[in-house]
Amino acid sequence: MLKLDKINFKIEDRKILDDFSLDVEDGKIHVIMGPNGVGKSTLSNIIMGNDNYKDYTGTITFNGEKIDGLSVDERSRKGIFLAMQNPIAIEGITNSEFLRNALTSRDSKNFSLFNFIKDVEKSVDDLKMDRSMIHKNINQGASGGERKKNEVLQIKILKPSFIILDELDSGLDVDSLKIVCQNIVEYKEQNPNTSILMITHYPRILKYIHPDYVHMMKDGKIVKTGDYSLALQIEKYGYSDTNDINEEENYE
Ligand code: ADP
Ligand code: MG
Repeated sequence: MLKLDKINFKIEDRKILDDFSLDVEDGKIHVIMGPNGVGKSTLSNIIMGNDNYKDYTGTITFNGEKIDGLSVDERSRKGIFLAMQNPIAIEGITNSEFLRNALTSRDSKNFSLFNFIKDVEKSVDDLKMDRSMIHKNINQGASGGERKKNEVLQIKILKPSFIILDELDSGLDVDSLKIVCQNIVEYKEQNPNTSILMITHYPRILKYIHPDYVHMMKDGKIVKTGDYSLALQIEKYGYSDTNDINEEENYE
């Protein structure tokens, strides 16, 4: 579904991504773990087409089509969604207006206000959010956890086919994390072809959302790929070279 081929990106002469390549197949869940500042959010922004990150080299292919040069909204229309690490509040537009505009700008002919309202109310209930948020400005006065839930609400309504979750677990208490993950898992069951790129520091979230692959990112690229056990290894030993760790273990 999404193929990153040799992405290079610099910020002020500092190399952030260095020949970063990754192939996410239809319906698969890939996890990226890596130390703070390694470039995980930068990667998310590059995939989403954020204007501040457009000066990369390399190729991004989405469903067989090169999308380099496309804007955020064009990529969004194709089905790419980024749940941001730190969602901001936006004044002057309510959640309901935002979701409605996003849907009608994509497909105004088949938009049904009745179904839209039903869908939003159900999704808000599923996420155990307060229905009053529907008519409030986006994230205004919302806590970190409420903002994360709002990102998942957007997923449920906009129905993307490629979802990037940038530290979805940060800012969520244990109960909210469970609710949010249940909603993602349910979405994935209903839309099995959806692919997910999940950025996290903690294996905790992977107990709910089971990954197909776990990648460790270091020095601007993926340096190791494994499964859930790699996430556990990283939690235990940190981001030091896990090959060394294996050898040490053999001595015990
Ligand atoms: P991560 O998400 O892995 O913690 P980031 O992708 O947020 O890391 O950041 C990678 C590096 O790039 C950091 O050193 C960060 O300070 C820097 N960086 C990211 N975005 C910007 C920006 N817009 N302006 C300046 N520096 C940035
Ligand atoms: Mg980040």
